[in-house]
Amino acid sequence: MTTEPEQTRVRQVRPKTEGWSQKKDDAGRPLLQFASPKRGKPPVHMADLTPEQRVEKVKELGLPGFRAKQLEKHYFTHWTHDPADMTDLPAEGRDEFVHGMLPPLLTEVRRLETDRGDTIKFLWKLHDGALVESVLMRYPGRITLCVSSQAGCGMNCPFCATGQAGLTRNMSSAEIVEQVVRANRLIADGGLGGKKKDDHSAERVSNIVFMGMGEPLANYARVMQAVRVMTDKTHGLGMSARGITVSTVGLAPAITKLSNEDIPVTFALSLHAPDDELRDELIPVNSRWKVDEVLDAARAYFDKTKRRVSIEYALIKDMNDHGWRADLLGDKLNERGRGWVHVNPIPLNPTPGSIWTASEVSVQNEFVRRLEAKGIPTTLRDTRGKEIDGACGQLVATEEDEAVAAVTPLEV
Ligand code: SF4
Repeated sequence: MTTEPEQTRVRQVRPKTEGWSQKKDDAGRPLLQFASPKRGKPPVHMADLTPEQRVEKVKELGLPGFRAKQLEKHYFTHWTHDPADMTDLPAEGRDEFVHGMLPPLLTEVRRLETDRGDTIKFLWKLHDGALVESVLMRYPGRITLCVSSQAGCGMNCPFCATGQAGLTRNMSSAEIVEQVVRANRLIADGGLGGKKKDDHSAERVSNIVFMGMGEPLANYARVMQAVRVMTDKTHGLGMSARGITVSTVGLAPAITKLSNEDIPVTFALSLHAPDDELRDELIPVNSRWKVDEVLDAARAYFDKTKRRVSIEYALIKDMNDHGWRADLLGDKLNERGRGWVHVNPIPLNPTPGSIWTASEVSVQNEFVRRLEAKGIPTTLRDTRGKEIDGACGQLVATEEDEAVAAVTPLEV
């Protein structure tokens, strides 16, 4: 366990924002924004609706209900919303019908790729001009898409570029799903590089991580509808729920709700500190739900779903990377039993001169060693996409992006 002399010996850097001021409430605490500001809602899209509602909508548009199934196939299997591809639909009125069911949602504003083209970051403009991003990454045997679930974020974490501007609005289910459909289209067209000769995996997104912009559990109902569409084998994308990771900074009641859904997604908790003193500053929502409460909720998720929980832990030099914190984390996890959890320490991208910089390699290794010594399965992760700011919490539209978006016509 923690020893006092060690704690006083080690350097402790306190979290604070750099180059921007954190919004505070009247009591001087970082402001938390849970409710989505009222903005013009995006048009209703097929992916927002249940299969029954789709049939109803098709009938409202003047066609027989079975056309819904055809449209589902075009959109979820062939990843197209171009009426010209849909020759099985009646030619007369086809454009209006398709537009009514699949209204344009995302306009691509910018695309950044790594040299090998195996990681691509997309910047999308939504119908109301809000900007969000997704990151597509090829790994051996799988293709992962990191999706956004909100435009902006209300959780106000001091290290996070997305949190700076607060929450613009919740994304609709279809806006979330459309990120996957667009990525699948690009892959099918050969736009994702880095494929090895011996890689025979299917050429479409196989894994989804909700680690782009936003706190997914703060947009619970829409995120869950999106997950249902992603996993629906008959009326959706037919993905495996296990390949979908829903992450949170710790909205305990929503974690409990997620445990009771009948969809065994992978659940990840972005913990980043095992002690409330530091976590209150690092993750402001910790002032609502403390470390022990979120760990209890995470353990209950395992009990209910039998899916092992991931604990994400960004290693930040002299802030949260102390050996005693690894020990404390190991103890807190072991208090709740064995075999239910896996820890992923993720070295922060090196930012020389900033308080938010990567831990020394020896410190990273010691952190992992201490967790493993306590019997906790631990995998040091690579921050993929760091050349293009692809890591969670660094997705933010720059002023330049906004300027580009301002002149990009609204088209799909
Ligand atoms: S780190 Fe995640 S939860 Fe925190 S402000 Fe950024 S996007 Fe929101």
